Amino acid sequence: MIHQILKEKFGFDTFRGDQEDIVNNLIANNDALVLMPTGGGKSLCYQIPALCMEGVAIVISPLISLMQNQVSALKLNGIKAESLNSSLNSETYREIIEELKEGSLDLLYLSPEGLNTSAAWTLLDSVKISLFAIDEAHCVSQWGHDFRKDYLNLGSIRERYKDTPIIALTATADLQVREDIIRQLKFKDFKTYTSSFNRENIYYKMAPKRNGYAQVKDVVMKHRDDCGIIYCPTVKKVESLCSKLQSEGLNVIKYHGQMKNEERSFNLKRFEQEDNVIVVATIAFGMGIDKPNVRFVCHNGMSKNIENFYQESGRAGRDGDKSFSYVFYGLDDLMTYKRFIDQSQMNKAHKKNANDKISFMYKFCESEKCKTNIILKYFGEIQDEECGHCDSCLDEYQRHEVTVEAQKFLSCVYRLNNRFGASYVIDVLRATKSKRITAFGHNKLSVYGIGQDLSKSDWLSINEKLLSIGYLKIEPEYKTLTLTELAAQVLKNGEKVFVRREIIQEGHKRVKSHGSKNSKEVDYDETLLAELKKYRLAMAKELSVASYMIATNATLINLAAVKPKTQEDLLLVNGIGKKKAEAFGEDFLNIINH
Ligand code: ADP
Repeated sequence: MIHQILKEKFGFDTFRGDQEDIVNNLIANNDALVLMPTGGGKSLCYQIPALCMEGVAIVISPLISLMQNQVSALKLNGIKAESLNSSLNSETYREIIEELKEGSLDLLYLSPEGLNTSAAWTLLDSVKISLFAIDEAHCVSQWGHDFRKDYLNLGSIRERYKDTPIIALTATADLQVREDIIRQLKFKDFKTYTSSFNRENIYYKMAPKRNGYAQVKDVVMKHRDDCGIIYCPTVKKVESLCSKLQSEGLNVIKYHGQMKNEERSFNLKRFEQEDNVIVVATIAFGMGIDKPNVRFVCHNGMSKNIENFYQESGRAGRDGDKSFSYVFYGLDDLMTYKRFIDQSQMNKAHKKNANDKISFMYKFCESEKCKTNIILKYFGEIQDEECGHCDSCLDEYQRHEVTVEAQKFLSCVYRLNNRFGASYVIDVLRATKSKRITAFGHNKLSVYGIGQDLSKSDWLSINEKLLSIGYLKIEPEYKTLTLTELAAQVLKNGEKVFVRREIIQEGHKRVKSHGSKNSKEVDYDETLLAELKKYRLAMAKELSVASYMIATNATLINLAAVKPKTQEDLLLVNGIGKKKAEAFGEDFLNIINH
C-alpha cells in the first residue's frame, strides 16, 4: 500500500534512504526521532503514514510560510491537507474546522502557538488523530539555534495522547539537542533514525575576506543563470550590496526584516517562481525556503555557529544537483559576534557556549582539514574518508608555515609593552617612516624593521591568525594588542603557526571528486525544456504557488529527454503522480507534440 501511495500520489518509484522503515515504524504506532539532512525527504516520512492511517495527522511546524508551502504542494498532489494559522479569515477558519470535524482531512498543519490554547486541545480531543509530526524539532531545545518557547509545551502531547505515535524530525541536532528533544517530548519507546549528514552535492569554498565586493561579484557572475542566496550580517549590508549588484545590471533582489510586507512577499514570490534570480538577504530569509534548485549559498561574513552554517548553506541543492557553499570570512566577524554575545542578556553558561561555538566556526573556516568531516564530527558522525568536495580536499588552499613571522610579531607587541594597536606594530616591523615611531624612540628597538620582507596585508593576516588562536587579544577601548599566556608556546616552546593561503591552480585536484551527478547531464531537448519552463512559470503565477510545486527541474528535464506521448507514459516520469497528470498532463503533451 505504501508503495502504491508513493507512486500514485507523489509520482515517485522508490523510497529514499530510511524513508520506508520510518513509514512502517510509524504505521506500527511507534514514536520516532528522525535526523535527516535538508533535502533528505523528511516530509514523506509522515505524509505517507497520514494517508494510510485512520484519522487526521497533526503536523506542528514553526512557520506559516512553511505550512502554506507544504499544504499547497500536497493539494497539487490531490491530498486533503489544510493549515490553521493566524493569516486565515474567519470564514476559511470555520470551513477548515468543519472539514476536520467531518473527518475529511488527512493532514492538518498547526503552529506550536496554535496548539497551546485550551480551545485547540478541545478541538483535537473531538477528532480521531492518526499521528503527530513535530517538524523542525530542534526548536524544542534551548541549546539549539532556533529555540521556540511554544515548542516546550509539546510535551503535553504524549501526556494527553498515550497511544498516538509521534514523529519528531530535524535536519540539525547535535547530541545535546537530540537528548533535549527526547526529554521534552517525553519519548519512551522510540526509534532514532540517523541519516548521514554528508551533503555530497555541496561544494564548500571558504576564503578569507580580501577585496569584499569583488569576491561576491565573482560568485554572482559565475552563477548568473542560477538561483542563489547571498547572506549578509546586517540590513544595511543587504541594502548596499543589493543596489551595487543591481546597478551592474545583475538580476538580484533583496530580503530582510525591515522591508515593507508587500515588497518582501513580492520578492519571495519572485524567488520561488523564477529560475535565475539571486536574493541578497539577512538570515531572516531562511527557514521557509524549500526551493529545490538553489545552486549556491554565499555567506558574506561567517555564520554564528556550525549548526546555523550547516542549515543555511544546506538550502543549496535540495534537488541533489551540484551546488556551492561560499563563505567569505574574517576576524571582524568573530570580534563582532563576540562583542554581541558579551553585551547580551544571556547567562554565563550560555555566553560561554555561544563564544565557544563562534570560535569553532572561525577555526572551521580556517582549517585545512576536510570540511565535511569537521561538520560530520560536530554532529557526532565519524567518517574517515575525505569528502572530495570541499576546498581542503580539492587543494584550493595551502597551509603555509609562519612560525618565524608569528614570533617576530609577538616579540614586537611585547617590546611595545602591549600598548599599541596592530597598525603601529606593523609599522615598526616594516620600519615605516613615522614621526610617532621616532618620537617614542621605537626605531631603536631590536624588532624595528625585522619584517620588511612582508606586505602590510600579509602582516594583518598573521595578526588575525594570532588573535583567532588566542596568542593575542585586543583591549576593547583603545584596540591595543596584548600577549596572552598562550603566546609563550610560540615564543619559547617553538609551537608552529600556519595560515591558509589560496592557491589558484585550475585542474589541480588531490582527491577526485565523487558523488553529485547533475541532472542536466542527461541528454534532453533544450528548446523543449525552455518551453516547459515557460509553461511552468505561467501556471505557478496562475495558481499562485512556487514553480517547483508544479514540477521540479529534474521532472521537466526528464520530460524533455523522454518526450512522453500518452498520459500513461507521463505517469512513468518521476515526480508526476495521478493528480498532476490530470491537471497538467494534457498541456505537457501538447507542448511536447508541438
Ligand atoms: P527535507 O524536508 O528533508 O528537507 P523534503 O521532504 O522537502 O526534504 O524533500 C526534498 C525533495 O526530495 C522534495 O522535492 C521531495 O519531493 C523529494 N523527495 C523526497 N522523497 C523522495 C523520493 N522517495 N523519491 C523522489 N523524490 C523524493
